[in-house]
Amino acid sequence: MPKPRVIYWFRTDLRLHDSPALKAALDLKPEVLYPIWCWDSHYVYRSRVGVNRWQFLIDCMNDVSQSISKINKKSQLYVLREPAVTLLPKLFKAWEITHLVFEKDTDAYGRDRDATVIESAKEAGVEVIFRSGRTLWDSDEVAKANGGKPTMNIKQLQTAGEKVGEIEPPIETPKSFPDPGELKLDFDQTQPEPTPDMNEKYRQNDEGSYNGGISGPKNDFHPPTLEELGLKPATTPHRGGESVILERLNSILSDEQYTGTFEKPKTSPAAFEPQSTFLTSPYLHFGALSCRYFYHRVEEIVEKRRKAKKPVSEPPTSLHGQLLFRDMYFAAQAVLGWSFGQTYNNSHCRFIPWHLPSKVDVSTKLVTGDYEVDDEEKEKQFKRWAEGRTGFPWIDAIMRQLRQEGWIHHLARHSVACFLTRGGCYISWERGAEVFEELLIDHEAACNIGNWQWLSCTAFFAQFYRCYSPVAFGKKWDDNGDYIRKYVPELKDLPKKFIFEPHKAPIQDQKKAGVVVKGDGSQEKEGDVAMYPKPMLDFNEARDVCLQGMKQAYHVGLYGNSPKVLDGSWKQLFDDSGEGPTEGEQGGPGGMLSFEEADGTEEDGHHPATPQKSKGGAVPGSPKSTRGRKREHSQGTLDGAFTKSAKK
Ligand SMILES: Cc1cc2nc3c(=O)[nH]c(=O)nc-3n(C[C@H](O)[C@H](O)[C@H](O)COP(=O)(O)OP(=O)(O)OC[C@H]3O[C@@H](n4cnc5c(N)ncnc54)[C@H](O)[C@@H]3O)c2cc1C
Repeated sequence: MPKPRVIYWFRTDLRLHDSPALKAALDLKPEVLYPIWCWDSHYVYRSRVGVNRWQFLIDCMNDVSQSISKINKKSQLYVLREPAVTLLPKLFKAWEITHLVFEKDTDAYGRDRDATVIESAKEAGVEVIFRSGRTLWDSDEVAKANGGKPTMNIKQLQTAGEKVGEIEPPIETPKSFPDPGELKLDFDQTQPEPTPDMNEKYRQNDEGSYNGGISGPKNDFHPPTLEELGLKPATTPHRGGESVILERLNSILSDEQYTGTFEKPKTSPAAFEPQSTFLTSPYLHFGALSCRYFYHRVEEIVEKRRKAKKPVSEPPTSLHGQLLFRDMYFAAQAVLGWSFGQTYNNSHCRFIPWHLPSKVDVSTKLVTGDYEVDDEEKEKQFKRWAEGRTGFPWIDAIMRQLRQEGWIHHLARHSVACFLTRGGCYISWERGAEVFEELLIDHEAACNIGNWQWLSCTAFFAQFYRCYSPVAFGKKWDDNGDYIRKYVPELKDLPKKFIFEPHKAPIQDQKKAGVVVKGDGSQEKEGDVAMYPKPMLDFNEARDVCLQGMKQAYHVGLYGNSPKVLDGSWKQLFDDSGEGPTEGEQGGPGGMLSFEEADGTEEDGHHPATPQKSKGGAVPGSPKSTRGRKREHSQGTLDGAFTKSAKK
């Protein structure tokens, strides 16, 4: 019997330690094993991915490639510049593949892609093996154990997890790696369609990562560079890679007291260099760190402390608890699929008539990636929020840290998400989630969407009267304003008493500090003097308006899949004077009278806690028509058109 010829397809698992799927591939005792990555145009063009996350991904790819080469110098990570759906059928033939192995991906896009790939493997007579390894438990199994329903709180997750069984112990890093076979590419490269390109605004040059053929311009199968992607250099200080995080984890975990007594709400959102939490999320996202390995390392420490009768923290606030939240969102997404990422047609997301609602293609029931500007003032507020020039230094510092570094603390995420939605602007959580999707290096569809729903009190959490003040909450953690001084440098010399509310500083104090508080943030300087904007809204007034709006929406009690939301008659249940685009009787899913036009179809058709010592101290819619087109951001469906064909 000939030995298996295996493709190991890296996707969500850029690591060698604790990889159940990689183990399954190695257990086949292959004659040849090709470790590959398919450079997917879905992420290049159709997902919102900022330069910092590209850098992090490329770091992780290079790192795992080097680790493979260390074990077998004849091998590496082979990056192939074509999406899997068109590439793999050709590779099966060219490399005479018998088995395709990969880690299970329960994201809506991943599932669609994998279904297509599995079908083509079946046609080619290739056996497909996949294993869960991205979460503590297989998310589909958790969902099954939860009665086929999404896990909407931590108790449900814990109960379902217990039914699924023990969290598997980590698997050893392989000590040997089979050789790859011949890297024959005797077929044409199918070049993906480059438009629409959601990341166009970041590119200083044309995107060119597919220009050099399947194996790249140097024919060395290396990941594309940022230059090839037409991008400017990254600005994040955080670098990716399995070896980076394993080394850092060893160092952090050596502080057993910190690990064993970690309680999330008591970590500071204002801590930097170092931050107050583990900063493992981007590594978990790219699979450079196994969550099961992380969990068990923490569990060992907690157990040791328990035995020694030393204090330990418990879920949900402990470190374990944080990983449980991650699994909870993954399992919820596994059930709801595409609808998890939007309000419309989402059975578990409350319908609130937010400003700037998403446009929906009612024929697919999916959001288009575009949104309605129901109120120009709200559009301005949204842009100011996204760019960190709201006039609230705490909010602006967070949004600027996010833009610059791609990672912000959990409570910082709470502050800005609450402010944008139910605790300030009354703007759709979907707008905020899109900005995070673009800027976070740890963007994880399940966690980002789930947490935005939590913070906007549309799902998972309902205590909308608990609201973060953009002044008082920040002060609690950053009394001296050091965090603000770092990320909003034009305010760095303001006296402490004005640092959270610079518009209250007398002109003399402003002058002395070298800043003038004026305007809307569109102008950086007045003469030689730095400018900082005035607050874009009266927070107390805005919070009251939001509270009234939320009360009314909760009273009406619609969900994303309520018939009145689906058919646009929901407006009949809201006062015309209600907050949001509530005027009239009938409106689109986005809440607009332009329902018909927007869709191209007929209408019938956690709260703040006490500080503890920290460790170590088309944002606007595309001008192009979105009529009837498929949803095109990262929750989007498979890229349809692969038109151009060129020789490799
Ligand atoms: C609006 C909003 C958006 C978010 N978007 C994302 C996202 O895109 N990707 C993402 O990984 N997390 C997201 N989070 C959750 C959380 O803020 C981050 O996981 C956490 O801040 C990452 O920092 P850390 O690794 O230092 O976390 P730690 O506190 O050290 O926790 C360890 C790990 O637990 C997991 N975790 C912790 N808190 C959560 C949580 N609330 N939900 C899910 N997992 C959690 C993360 O994987 C994290 O790395 C979001 C939170 C909010 C409020």
